[in-house]
Amino acid sequence: MRYKPLGRTGLNVSVIGFGASPLGNEFGVVDPGDGERAVHAAIERGINFFDVAPYYGRTLAEERLGAALAGKRDKVVLATKIGRYDVEAFDFSAKRVRSSVEESLRRLRTDYVDVLTAHDIEFGDREQIVEETVPAMRALQQEGKIRSVGVSGLQLKMLADVAARAEVDTVLSYCRHNLIIRDLDTWLTPLLQARQIGLINASPLHMRVLTATGAPAWHPAVEAVKQAGAEVVRLCGGDSAILALRFCLDHPYVSSTLVGMSNAAEVTSNLRALEECFPSALLADVDKIVEPVKNMAWRTGRPENHDFPN
Ligand code: NAD
Repeated sequence: MRYKPLGRTGLNVSVIGFGASPLGNEFGVVDPGDGERAVHAAIERGINFFDVAPYYGRTLAEERLGAALAGKRDKVVLATKIGRYDVEAFDFSAKRVRSSVEESLRRLRTDYVDVLTAHDIEFGDREQIVEETVPAMRALQQEGKIRSVGVSGLQLKMLADVAARAEVDTVLSYCRHNLIIRDLDTWLTPLLQARQIGLINASPLHMRVLTATGAPAWHPAVEAVKQAGAEVVRLCGGDSAILALRFCLDHPYVSSTLVGMSNAAEVTSNLRALEECFPSALLADVDKIVEPVKNMAWRTGRPENHDFPN
């Protein structure tokens, strides 16, 4: 495993991070024993960065991750979130930040988290995030309950704007730098790099589009994107997930790429990405397939927070 500093947080994170949303059954039912074995296999193989949220499985993922980390808390860099609690339930108020963290600490069986992230901020009021949410998170840092403060979301321009105006240590972006979509560096990376804010890239498999199983029913991408993904999978054969992850690992500034994992076999398979290199001729063929749907993200959150409002 390789490790990289996460911006200026003082934390060193494994370049492959464990995304724990599958432990909340977000991609289908995961056997609790399989989930626990996945966490343990990841730690044994050097993965030290774990990302979860109260939203994943509506607290189930935190419960399961907390149980799996019993006795191993000191081996990991643990990230959880505040602000999103259901598909349409958001609360970025200072009061809820505080109560949410207390609840997460209980479920995760710890007394601090290393990274606290405001979850999907485009669903919130931009000024509230800057003036109330981030300062409330900083107050928790002063109290020793969290080590660093981050924001996450899909809408890159809002992430950049908030990172420029509020004091954040990390930004988590998803589905904006992988084989299907590649506009992270256009809108976000240069600002973060200039300020040494840690960058976490999530969903290297485009939320399962780049696997043989294909996108889950809830996947928000348009059909043409899913079809292009299926073609990329056919082209890459059984190694599509590994190659998709490898592509993301090659990003020069991202500290950790978060991949959702639900069993030990996926952990073993994804670790192979560390030893692969992405053949440039194959990447050229992938690019040809993806060209017609290039950078087709989708809108999330409040209209005023969309990257490309009408
Ligand atoms: P992903 O692209 O990592 O895909 C995960 C899916 O692919 C899961 O169903 C998993 O079981 C499957 N998978 C993993 N490895 C595989 C392999 N080798 N072969 C076949 N299938 C494989 O998408 P994701 O889980 O959404 O993203 C990763 C993590 O990033 C999340 O778990 C979460 O922790 C974080 N995330 C955060 C946000 C946010 O803060 N807004 C958004 C998205 C993701």
